[in-house]
Amino acid sequence: MIKDHKTISASCLSPEQAYACLVQHSQETAYLKTLSRLLAWDQRTCLPSQGHNFRHQQRAFLARLIHRRQTDPALGEYLAKVEASPLAATPEGDVAVNLREWRRAWERAVRIPEELAVALTKAASAGESVWEATRPANDWESFRPYLGRTVRLQREKAEALGYAGEPFDALLADFEPGETAATLSPLFSELQRFLLPFLEKIMATPKRPANPLRGRSFPRPAQESLARHVAVRLGFDFEAGRLDVSAHPFATGLGPADVRFTTRYDEHYFGPALFSVLHEIGHALYEQGLPAEHWGTPRGTAVSLGIHESQSRLWENLVGRSLAFWQHFYPLLQKTFPSLPDLGLQDWQLAVNEVQPGLIRTEADEVTYNLHIILRFDLERALVNGRLQVDDLPEAWNEGMRNLLGLTPPDFRHGVMQDVHWAAGLFGYFPTYTLGNLYAAQFFAQAQNEVSGLEELMAAGDFRPLLAWLRQNIHQHGSRFRPRQLVARVTGHELQTRFLLTYLEKKFTALR
Ligand code: ZN
Repeated sequence: MIKDHKTISASCLSPEQAYACLVQHSQETAYLKTLSRLLAWDQRTCLPSQGHNFRHQQRAFLARLIHRRQTDPALGEYLAKVEASPLAATPEGDVAVNLREWRRAWERAVRIPEELAVALTKAASAGESVWEATRPANDWESFRPYLGRTVRLQREKAEALGYAGEPFDALLADFEPGETAATLSPLFSELQRFLLPFLEKIMATPKRPANPLRGRSFPRPAQESLARHVAVRLGFDFEAGRLDVSAHPFATGLGPADVRFTTRYDEHYFGPALFSVLHEIGHALYEQGLPAEHWGTPRGTAVSLGIHESQSRLWENLVGRSLAFWQHFYPLLQKTFPSLPDLGLQDWQLAVNEVQPGLIRTEADEVTYNLHIILRFDLERALVNGRLQVDDLPEAWNEGMRNLLGLTPPDFRHGVMQDVHWAAGLFGYFPTYTLGNLYAAQFFAQAQNEVSGLEELMAAGDFRPLLAWLRQNIHQHGSRFRPRQLVARVTGHELQTRFLLTYLEKKFTALR
């Protein structure tokens, strides 16, 4: 099975040969995974509405193939052969890193029966389509059975995988290796303890007149050319990637020179398109910066979703909502959109950093964003651990919104049905957004220490030194280090909330 459908016993191979087989196997599995991602990209950007059912079948078939490859019993023998050899002697060397991640992935994969793996993929694919169809109509009743089925399957998956703490940990490990609910809880509690009174303080200060940016005319072609200009200026290579439109912006790596991201345009406000481009470009730059010579192996793959998100949040917020960024881009924005009010730079920065508790996570400002994640973390944990049933989810959601943000959603669409994640079977994914914010602030503080004149460079429109720093310190390593190990190496500190909290306090105190 491992090579050319012939099972060559690992005992007949040298460790070098066994390792070469493992690399080939890993790359071939990556071909299938990227094909599946390409189908998903197509599903979200241009699939005709009647094509979804067939697409689910295609993706389920690929999932079956991938699962078979990942659970190949021969993998275990090959791994053991190389693990016992001197090849793996250098910790954090390419071989040792690949072995560590292959071992981990194999041990997880073999615990999931094939039928469950296929059922999970089908439920995710169908769930996503049903969510797309039912959300605009606010149709919770039609959506609910799909979500219920997905939660049941996710619980089954957690039991199959096993866990030391709680079922949720088993699912979280797919997205953020090394983290558990117990390691995240203290971080999230610290954030909540700071953010609630801080938000109250911000909201208690007299507000300036309503945000003057919305409701004007921002023609789509102008938004699109601005998006492309910004992407190139930040370092995105359009010869090795694409920008398209989808309902829910995302970025996806389809190969070493094929990284795609999407955005959506609102002709009454430039914000959703520009800031989602800044966000997704962070993901895309990370993918473009991974070492191509290690493509298809863990050494050439992003380390975790939290680290991935740190790249997107860094460009979207630490860079894209900074004074330095707008010193360079505001004149261009004014030229692109004659409808913009003529604000001074300080007022402009205030306008794009408006703090206002809202119902929608993806539109949240930097101060309230993590409160949205804390709500989701609590709820998905309760769902997976069996403390909350899907029928009771909307009420639990609304209660959480009232406690954290002081708001009650008027309908499902602006409440529990707003995100695609749970519909698509992504339980344990949400915490990676907050981890991303924490990592982003900590990385950026270090970049400020190490890249001399970073603010001045950004104000002059030169983002190359920052990208080079990220390439050098983060992108080129792929999965060489685990996330917490990476942040400690790069910044000299364990992951801490203080970098984000100091940044927020300084920025939003100055902005008021
Ligand atoms: Zn993201």
